[in-house]
Amino acid sequence: RTAGETILRTDGLVKKFGQFVATDRVDLEVERGEFRSIIGPNGAGKTTLFNLVTGALPATEGNIYFDGEEITALSPPERVRRGIGRSFQISNIFGGLTVRENVRLAAQSIDRDEYNFLESLFKPTDRYDRMNDRTDKVLARVGLEDVADEQADALAYGDKRRLEIGVVLATDPDLVLFDEPTAGMSAEETQETIDLLEEVLVDQTLLLVEHDIELVMELSDRITVLNRGEILAEGTPDEIAANQDVQDAYLGG
Ligand code: ADP
Repeated sequence: RTAGETILRTDGLVKKFGQFVATDRVDLEVERGEFRSIIGPNGAGKTTLFNLVTGALPATEGNIYFDGEEITALSPPERVRRGIGRSFQISNIFGGLTVRENVRLAAQSIDRDEYNFLESLFKPTDRYDRMNDRTDKVLARVGLEDVADEQADALAYGDKRRLEIGVVLATDPDLVLFDEPTAGMSAEETQETIDLLEEVLVDQTLLLVEHDIELVMELSDRITVLNRGEILAEGTPDEIAANQDVQDAYLGG
């Protein structure tokens, strides 16, 4: 899956909450096409690192690069437009809107930089067509064409998961961040969700925070282990499983 090209890099990334250092000089490098998981004990700084990458939190020190460009000071919507998508689980779905409307809204959110005054004057329907086009493609990709006009609230459980992925996909991301996508799910629902991610997000680099170690070992190309805000270890699942520091700090023996 890996092409050997860096898509995301952090350089000496620090996040402090008051005196507390939640992210401590993190140098992270993720390759394009990779499935990377971030693990570590509660409070290790996993969610904080995600929030720094998406721009939900400003960095205290250090830099973030995406696709070779510095994005440290960019707003979250600007980062989405550059290709950083994030799944927020249920919260990014509007239950009162239809499936199609949800996807279209997400597609529209990244189209602003394509807005063209002359186009809007002389070909006002082009943008409309483009949005509908992208929406249809996403609905097909996640297999929701048949329920496109149903209200999101009324969807069956599995279709809601599909819509969440569709909403992320509609923003045309190169990198997608998932913060515990299977939290609270049964074993069966977890497997379905993971299968869906792997089926739909074939062109994307995936960055996953996940508690379920078995799942992480099964899915990841590489794993980054955080401990007290610092990178403790990094490597393939086999390397991480055999790492003594990781066992001591995290796996408990
Ligand atoms: P993890 O996701 O690995 O469980 P977090 O990134 O959520 O860890 O948190 C790392 C540490 O930073 C924790 O000790 C947490 O209490 C602290 N923290 C996170 N967010 C804030 C905040 N907004 N204000 C103060 N402390 C925070």
